Amino acid sequence: MKRAAASPGGNQPRSRALEAELLAESKSAVEELQQAQQALRESEKRLNAIIHSAMDAILTVDQQQHILMFNAAAEKMFGCSAADAIGQPLERFVPQRFHATHREQISRFAASGVSKRRMAYKNGLLAVRAGGAEFPIEASISQIEVARKKLLTVIVRDISERRRAERALRSLSDCNEALVRATDEPSLLKQICDLVVNVGGYRMAWVGYAVHDEKKSVRVVAESGFEAGYLKALNLTWADEERGHGPTGTAIRTGTVRLCSDMATDPDFALWREEAMRRGYRASMVLPLKNGEELLGAISIYAPEIGAFDAAEKHLLEDLSNNLSYGITALRARQERRQAEQALATKVAELARSNADLEQFAYAASHDLQEPLRMVTAYTQLLAERYRGRLDADADKFIGYASEGAQRMQVLIRDLLAFSRVGRGNVASGRVDCNALMQQILQTLSSAIEESGAMVTYGELPLIWAEHTQIAQVLQNLVGNAIKFRQQATPMISVQAEKTEAHWLFSVRDNGIGIAPESAKEIFVVFQRLHARAEYPGNGIGLAICKKIIERYGGRIWVESEPGSGSSFKFTIPLHGEDEEEGSAK
Ligand code: ADP
Repeated sequence: MKRAAASPGGNQPRSRALEAELLAESKSAVEELQQAQQALRESEKRLNAIIHSAMDAILTVDQQQHILMFNAAAEKMFGCSAADAIGQPLERFVPQRFHATHREQISRFAASGVSKRRMAYKNGLLAVRAGGAEFPIEASISQIEVARKKLLTVIVRDISERRRAERALRSLSDCNEALVRATDEPSLLKQICDLVVNVGGYRMAWVGYAVHDEKKSVRVVAESGFEAGYLKALNLTWADEERGHGPTGTAIRTGTVRLCSDMATDPDFALWREEAMRRGYRASMVLPLKNGEELLGAISIYAPEIGAFDAAEKHLLEDLSNNLSYGITALRARQERRQAEQALATKVAELARSNADLEQFAYAASHDLQEPLRMVTAYTQLLAERYRGRLDADADKFIGYASEGAQRMQVLIRDLLAFSRVGRGNVASGRVDCNALMQQILQTLSSAIEESGAMVTYGELPLIWAEHTQIAQVLQNLVGNAIKFRQQATPMISVQAEKTEAHWLFSVRDNGIGIAPESAKEIFVVFQRLHARAEYPGNGIGLAICKKIIERYGGRIWVESEPGSGSSFKFTIPLHGEDEEEGSAK
């Protein structure tokens, strides 16, 4: 602004002009000032609008920590109007037990000269609403100087929702760990309820199972937290009737999640409202538990705040209940399997015992019968030798029958003894070269081979772990039968072995009379034969012995055949550790 000085001896017109100039100047100065004030007012308005529309609570306090400014978010967060808050000490919104620390922290900050600091709930920062409820916050504080006065601006963010999601997440991961380690159902359910309360910070959790009784009642199987007799007063059912239409009954009956944001107003909670609210519960979430398609029951979680469960938390708790359902299913399957295994083991032990008893009996009987039978045979022979032709013709015939019968009985007893001996002694005692074994068998059977003109061939047979005489018995029986049960054509018999993943597979193939498929099992039973002795001699013990030997080694024996087109007897011998390394003997 230009300053015009009045001239000392000035004339009239000049001074008037000067006056006008001065007037104009002061007018524009006033205008400028007004404009500046207007701009200031506007920017103040803008600032106020920003402050009052902010999501975070913004408060300004003076050096004595009295509230000077309290924005709309603060009013909402602390449940207190700005009019009530202004002039009050900041401590009003700090839980009583932290007042001393709070005061000290703020004055230390004010004295430090630092302009800004952030504080978070990690350090245990809590605020208190006008109603007395505490909640976790994150806050930042900064110093400003207005008109040489130091003021503090505090920005507060309510992080209860975030924290709830974090806690739900933490309980979910802890619950998953419990699921992995769980060994039995009752302790798993208890652990999950404990975690929901202790880690998740909910007020109470309980699991109810649907009972399939007449009343369709709900049985409490686990609970944790502040319960105070509430569950006893519930008297719940999952039946489609009034008491079954509450959250638990509905969740169990329909398999859906039931959320109650406020027990005070939710009509579904009417029957339990009083009892629940008396114990400080305000919101609940009930999640169904399933074993596959079958609805088992539900887990109910109670919180003290209205609308305690937000969307993210709901998802996490749904995951938790799904995982719990899966855990229960897995535990039940494991339990069933364990029971089945135990039952099987008991059966096997019983069978083994009765088999051993039977074997012992067969052995003792056949062994003890031999002696008196030897006497019968010896004396009928003596009778035959001494009295043949000296009594009448009938007597000769009868003596003949008696000694024939006695001899047959001797053979049967010998076979039975041989059969019962298979179960005694070691299973495998060394390596058996099956090629050498076959040579030996052909030697033993040479007269039958010569007589029938049979052609017996064998491929490269392996070294196996077994007891020499037992494997010899098997192969000799099979080759012997192949020769015995021949047709008109020259008997062609081939013995082969091949290595599979788990065992050696042997086959003895012939071009003999064959066996009807319906008799394929029967022929392995003791004394079972398909032909009269006059047609084909034998006692029907050979294949029973083969089966017993092979099964003792953990193998299997069977026949593949059709009447008239030859038979193929096959058996397996499990591989021994060394077989797997070395393969077959050449
Ligand atoms: P056995 O030879 O003393 O009769 P086995 O136990 O060795 O007793 O055989 C039982 C029955 O199986 C025989 O009586 C016969 O009917 C049938 N069988 C066994 N081997 C053969 C074969 N290679 N071909 C046809 N039938 C057979």
